[in-house]
Amino acid sequence: MRAGDGDVVGVFVIEPRLVRGAGPTRQAYLRRSLAALDQSLDGRLVVRDGDPALVLAHLARSVGAREVFATGDTTPWSRARDERVGAALASAGLRLRVLDSPYAVAPGTLATASGSPYRVFGPFERAWRPLASVASPRPASAPDWRRVVSEAPTWPSGPYAGRPWYFGDLPDEPPPASAPAGESAALARLASLGATIQEYATARDQVGVEGTTRLSAALHFGELHPRQVLAVLRGSGPGPAALSRQLAWRDFYADVLWHWPSSRWRALQPAMERLRVDRDEAAAERFRLWARGRTGYPLIDAAMRQLLAEGWMHNRARMVAASFLVKHLHLDWRWGARWFLWRLVDADVASNQHGWQWCAGVGTDAAPFFRVFNPIRQAQRVDPDGAYVRRYVAELAGSPAADCLRPEGGAAHYAPAMVDLARERVEALARYQEVRRGAPVGQ
Ligand SMILES: Cc1cc2nc3c(=O)[nH]c(=O)nc-3n(C[C@H](O)[C@H](O)[C@H](O)COP(=O)(O)OP(=O)(O)OC[C@H]3O[C@@H](n4cnc5c(N)ncnc54)[C@H](O)[C@@H]3O)c2cc1C
Repeated sequence: MRAGDGDVVGVFVIEPRLVRGAGPTRQAYLRRSLAALDQSLDGRLVVRDGDPALVLAHLARSVGAREVFATGDTTPWSRARDERVGAALASAGLRLRVLDSPYAVAPGTLATASGSPYRVFGPFERAWRPLASVASPRPASAPDWRRVVSEAPTWPSGPYAGRPWYFGDLPDEPPPASAPAGESAALARLASLGATIQEYATARDQVGVEGTTRLSAALHFGELHPRQVLAVLRGSGPGPAALSRQLAWRDFYADVLWHWPSSRWRALQPAMERLRVDRDEAAAERFRLWARGRTGYPLIDAAMRQLLAEGWMHNRARMVAASFLVKHLHLDWRWGARWFLWRLVDADVASNQHGWQWCAGVGTDAAPFFRVFNPIRQAQRVDPDGAYVRRYVAELAGSPAADCLRPEGGAAHYAPAMVDLARERVEALARYQEVRRGAPVGQ
């Protein structure tokens, strides 16, 4: 907020409900990110806790603020919150000015020729590209930050909100290995990505190599803006083009969520709400084996253990693990989405929920219900030498590639394969066909 003398007070409000529901990994990252921001502002960041509408109206009055600015946030929850903050400030005679968005092209900007929102990625990307490639203005220089004496905020403690029953005894501790947080770390990472960007088109699906940017948490927490990434992708070539396309996916999912806020927890294709899924205690047992990385399929297990160990998972591994949960275990995509939101450091409601819906065949993709990733064939394609499996699955750390590609790792001491892939594929297709035939809702 800008005070009467032109100084700027930087504020972050911890919303207890939001933070307690964020899960352990994101909470830990948020704390480190705020500490890094405070350090870069020479200790002048004001962090308060409570209802942002009350906290900001009170703080604005006490520093004699003339204007209050916030970066636009576009999820359904944030939009409702910002309206409440705007109303509270208005009653104190102040205007909330919401600027820009954390996207290259703000959600709600693009529309088809008939004026409707996009539901298919290809045409969205074609409309997105010219707008996303417009050079953005240089960032304003840093203002004079005012120091405001403030008590240390109270971080929410106690049990996490929104922990569902089917998590059972799955761990809550944040992962031991976490990405460095803060703007400087993000900029350093971006500056180091020359070779990654050039090779991105071919390396991005190889789960065993560092072939992607790992910028997702920095983008999610606003430490980096996608236009800063696009600015270094201006060159030609397949690498930069493929990477900018991924940023278009990010904008696409945010745009879909903007237009269909209920798609946060409901299938974008309403008919797919009828898909029969298992939700009993036996299903929850299967869910927990999956979440622990004990399915007996080494690629899936490596993926799920990477999530536990690092709070991050390779995109291709996310796709295969999500497909396995929905199509081989017949569980609700929302269960998996919730676990990802809980554990991922980059957990993002638009990308996560729509990434899951895409994999489950209930979201934006046109006709993918018959696409069932086979985790063995996927492993042969994306981890042919078994490097990824060996890194995360301790039981197979010394095993040859052939064992890393096999169900049960070809080893007696490894988890038994929890399902028969061929049989469950047939079962999944039958359940999807029920929806297509308009069968009544199952359980
Ligand atoms: C089931 C599932 C759940 C997912 N959940 C999330 C999530 O909670 N948060 C999240 O940021 N991404 C999510 N993704 C998308 C993607 O997996 C991650 O963005 C990516 O793995 C992050 O690693 P990176 O930064 O190295 O990506 P890179 O490959 O380097 O891509 C650069 C950036 O583009 C964006 N991006 C890349 N792929 C996608 C994609 N498929 N959809 C949307 N944006 C993308 C991300 O911001 C990413 O940081 C999910 C994908 C799936 C299939």
